[in-house]
Amino acid sequence: MMQNYSLRVSTIIDHAARFHPKRPVLGRSVEGGVVQNNWLGVQREAKQLAAALRGLGIKKGDVIGVMAWNTVRHLSVWYGVPGAGAVNHTLNPRLFAEQLIYIINHAEDRFIMVDPDLLPIFEAIIDKIPKIEKIIVLTDRANMPESPLDLLCYQELVKGQPTDEPWMEGDENDPCGICYTSGTTGKPKGVVYSHRSNVLHALAAAAPDMINISSNDSVMPVVPLFHANGWSIAYNAPMAGAAMVMPGRDMSAPGLYEMLEMGVTFTAAVPTIWLGMLQYLEAENLQFSSLKRVLIGGASCPRAVIETFQNKYGVQVLHAWGMTEMSPLGTICSFKPEVNALPDAERLSVQETVGHPPYSVDLKIVNDWGEDLPWDGVSQGRLLTRGAAVVQHYLKAKEDAVDSDGWFDTGDVAVMDENGYVRITDRLKDVIKSGGEWISSIELENCAMAHPGVAEAAAVAVPHEKWSERPVLVIVPAPDNRPKRSEVISLLEKRFAKWQLPDDIIFVDDLPHTATGKVSKLELRQRLLDQSYTLPE
Ligand code: AMP
Repeated sequence: MMQNYSLRVSTIIDHAARFHPKRPVLGRSVEGGVVQNNWLGVQREAKQLAAALRGLGIKKGDVIGVMAWNTVRHLSVWYGVPGAGAVNHTLNPRLFAEQLIYIINHAEDRFIMVDPDLLPIFEAIIDKIPKIEKIIVLTDRANMPESPLDLLCYQELVKGQPTDEPWMEGDENDPCGICYTSGTTGKPKGVVYSHRSNVLHALAAAAPDMINISSNDSVMPVVPLFHANGWSIAYNAPMAGAAMVMPGRDMSAPGLYEMLEMGVTFTAAVPTIWLGMLQYLEAENLQFSSLKRVLIGGASCPRAVIETFQNKYGVQVLHAWGMTEMSPLGTICSFKPEVNALPDAERLSVQETVGHPPYSVDLKIVNDWGEDLPWDGVSQGRLLTRGAAVVQHYLKAKEDAVDSDGWFDTGDVAVMDENGYVRITDRLKDVIKSGGEWISSIELENCAMAHPGVAEAAAVAVPHEKWSERPVLVIVPAPDNRPKRSEVISLLEKRFAKWQLPDDIIFVDDLPHTATGKVSKLELRQRLLDQSYTLPE
């Protein structure tokens, strides 16, 4: 019989510290400047934090809210909190105050750990989160902010604590982290990751056909650790023994470029970040000197972004799909032999899909009656999933989030092909149904985005007497490059049937976004309603 090895995340950082101790872990700090560390240093500080938290009375299962940028220190927090047996509740600073109050109270956070510049967020809501006992500011004494709140200084807390503090041991099914869904409709819902689900997810995501990072990589997560389990990258890099570069809070293209040039080979972020980066590279006539692969997900990646990265900058794009409820990886577009055999242009079209799942993620598409649909590249249906790191039920929910066979409805609409590649066509709540036929808003948007004058695009349904709904395309023009309506239409005509073309194209200064940077179609439809928008005759 084999050993019953408990799959706790502390085994990941221990592995990195023992077998890759000197691998560089560096990043921009909140105090300014770049700090240098390595896996041994990150692990030791995590142990010191675990000791400090215990000293403050943290017990197994207690929840600690963490609001911090992607810094080296945040990696020690990432392992120190669950290492003490507590649960890391990631907090997004872009949430509305009411949402933040709701999730902190709902998850029953006892402590808050926060970067100094984000402290005002808590000063404003402190009366509404009465159960918070301590606020720990993630900095040293010299950089502690002035505040009416009673604060603890992180650096002082960890200083002098044992660097060999034992990790909390226990069941691999213990809770490890909590991330709330963005809650565009209704209240945010808490997804609780277990130690086991995080370890299994990281192992599955590490596969060669997935993110495939190794000890030869230097990994920079631009995606914040507070988005959807940080896309698991803070588990994957130490598991592989890869180096890490943490970008800090500067999300501007020049700021990120500077950090990417510190030897980064693998990076990850949502498409909007890369749109800005590509514009910057073009304007400044720059190249990447070390970057090899970029993971793009969270929203559909336009073809033009994939093409430019690969053809102009020699960086391979891994288009991925996932969600908070899936820890988050669902699929990644890597090439199976069937795809490798295709001509270049067709392979690029395959990259507009989000690819195929790793072992431990199962998928199917079903119609409105829950019947399986064929993987024929045409049939469109609701995408269902089940797996080792997929939600079973939301925090404190009375009912399971899955059906009796364990399938979780992702809320996405998709097509699958014979090779098991998934094409996401819409969110179910955002679909456009005209005369009983679905029109893919994602495909309309991505096609329009191929025009250099289109900075951002969103297709939404507008009620129509005869067809019940018709598509309207809302466009934010690129600075100094407003496209002509006719130019956009002729682009769309190449790809869509006449009845699928939008009835109108509206130019706006900006689009409403959710806290995780996705276009909020709910709010956009409301805006159009508020403006009493009517379709042209
Ligand atoms: P979140 O839980 O905030 O990460 O949001 C998950 C949702 O983002 C998914 O259910 C999809 O609707 C959307 N999404 C994520 N990745 C992609 C992608 N590559 N293409 C299209 N939609 C995506």
